[in-house]
Amino acid sequence: MLGGSVEVLELLAERERIEAQLLQKFGAFAASGEWAADGVHNPTRWLIHHGRLSPLDAARLVRNARLVHHHDRTAKLLDSGDITSAHVDVIARAARHREECFDEHEDTLLDAASTLPVEGFRTVARRWRVLADDVLADRDATHAFARRRLHCSVTFRGTVRIDGELDPHGGALVLAALDAHSERDGTRPAAQRRADALVRLAAGEHATVTIDVLVDADTLTGEFPGDLTTARCDLPRVGPVAPNTIRRLACDALLGRILRSGSEILDVGRRQRRLATPAQRRAVLARDGGCIIPGCGAPPEWCDIHHHDPWHHGGETNLDNLYALCRPDHVAVHEGKWKLQRKPDGTIQAIPP
Ligand SMILES: [Zn+2]
Ligand SMILES: [Zn+2]
Repeated sequence: MLGGSVEVLELLAERERIEAQLLQKFGAFAASGEWAADGVHNPTRWLIHHGRLSPLDAARLVRNARLVHHHDRTAKLLDSGDITSAHVDVIARAARHREECFDEHEDTLLDAASTLPVEGFRTVARRWRVLADDVLADRDATHAFARRRLHCSVTFRGTVRIDGELDPHGGALVLAALDAHSERDGTRPAAQRRADALVRLAAGEHATVTIDVLVDADTLTGEFPGDLTTARCDLPRVGPVAPNTIRRLACDALLGRILRSGSEILDVGRRQRRLATPAQRRAVLARDGGCIIPGCGAPPEWCDIHHHDPWHHGGETNLDNLYALCRPDHVAVHEGKWKLQRKPDGTIQAIPP
């Protein structure tokens, strides 16, 4: 190796040692309360005023240092170099609002962190976050859905600027559609190919888009996986999502299902048996006349078809088991907010949250 590259590598190693020490020392300093003597309200303020950090960097250092200070095994592995400060940053993000679950699963996460590079570990940590706590995963999914938006503005030059944020399912569909309409000619940058694909979509060239989910049989039925690195509860191009999102997608979506047990693929597709046929769909929409949630009023064309007894528990795809729900109410039903109860006469009753 040339002298220059050795020097750079040494500096990187040195920086990592300093980062690790900083996390340890600052964690102890923040916990001691000594910062109050400098006339600030909290350790973040102290870092901004005396450490000259930006508010964002200060908040991140406080969060990561706090995690290291309160978790001995994390501190030990950071100290020995088995995990890096970047791994700690990922762990601290994943453990946010999951503090109790984290105490329980610290070893599992650290085992993964010490064997995986940061990028790979990020996916595992996201997966842990959605699988560790069903209720919190649903709450995160609800927030993600509520944040969906698309801003379109016409600029002074007459161009149209687009910016937005989509929930994981919506995002995965859009990414799949853009992929399907992209021509890989190798001359245009990816961003330009996506722009062309969006215009092609708008012009009415529609290739049917299906999404293959990757999910373990155990995860689907609510078991915590034995091995987080091989477990899957993922959407393509987006990564780990809440198990209930996958259950809802499996309920009614153009979705090629892939179930796995360990590394063995059990079942690919089975689209026909699970999805309502076009005739069944029309019959359900005509019978229900739109979303069945009282007061919703969403018309039939906005509705998903919901399986009352879930198909993964053996629920049949026949009219007695199918109901029309608009997308937001379909999400709410799968997250257990609205409860649907079938009365003896076969009609359905919606019980508010
Ligand atoms: Zn459903
Ligand atoms: Zn509705």
